[in-house]
Amino acid sequence: QEAAASFSSAGFVLPEPANVPLAQLEARNISAWFGDHEVLDRVSLTMPAGAVTALIGPSGCGKSTFLRILNRMHELIPSASLAGEVLLDGDDIYDVSRKLTDARRHIGMVFQKPNPFPAMSIYDNVIAGLTLTGTKTDRDRRDFLVESSLTKAGLWKEVKDRLRAPGGGLSGGQQQRLCIARSLAVQPKVLLMDEPCSALDPTSTRVIEETMLELVQDVTIVIVTHNMQQAQRVSTQCAFFLAGQGQPGGIVEHGDTDAMFSSPIDERTFNYVNGRF
Ligand code: ADP
Ligand code: MG
Repeated sequence: QEAAASFSSAGFVLPEPANVPLAQLEARNISAWFGDHEVLDRVSLTMPAGAVTALIGPSGCGKSTFLRILNRMHELIPSASLAGEVLLDGDDIYDVSRKLTDARRHIGMVFQKPNPFPAMSIYDNVIAGLTLTGTKTDRDRRDFLVESSLTKAGLWKEVKDRLRAPGGGLSGGQQQRLCIARSLAVQPKVLLMDEPCSALDPTSTRVIEETMLELVQDVTIVIVTHNMQQAQRVSTQCAFFLAGQGQPGGIVEHGDTDAMFSSPIDERTFNYVNGRF
């Protein structure tokens, strides 16, 4: 009864996964600076609901910066500033009346290097986001979220008998899937992935790609990847970022992934997707 009481007095109650509608993320005229160094110049991109959008392009052209702007992590960097809008289903995530935790709960992030809390149990790692966003849940609900999130991340069968073991004891690929499960437990509308497989072996990479192809039915996905085969395997649409010498980064070309790889419009895109720079 106590658990039920605390559950009902929570700030909000998580919806059932099936009732979380797919959402579109739209960046409008995003510019970004570190100090007075401009690193992105008026980037606009629509990331449709139910699609995997791949961001490709050479190092240093602002892909990670763009991704961090999409869930308000950019503002954590003291020298960073930005202009433009990010709309989640039409609502500006930078609206001053919206809480920061709200934007972060709806828009999760997975990084290149798996970063579970190593000493924390697998179970507690999965629900860590609930604690961080101040979400109160009862035990049954937590158990359900742990199982469903680990299942979606393709890790449940491997860890169901050792949920109390530390997250740090898992292999690299398993740790990354644990991080994906941790992101999913708060039932985000969008999952941002910054080179999520770059630190992983080919088998783990394949498992995560398969996971993404399943996940996109529930969550809008944006992935940064340097792996052109991966971009073709997982993405619906692609955006090619490039920064000229001493110039801020921007999108040279974007569109349907198959078209972008088979018949790119811009010569620079052609050269990049064919490994020429
Ligand atoms: P990418 O992910 O495409 O490799 P980044 O977004 O990491 O590109 O970097 C874009 C530009 O911003 C680079 O010139 C990089 O040096 C600069 N940059 C990135 N992070 C910071 C930071 N925290 N402080 C200052 N400059 C940064
Ligand atoms: Mg990067």
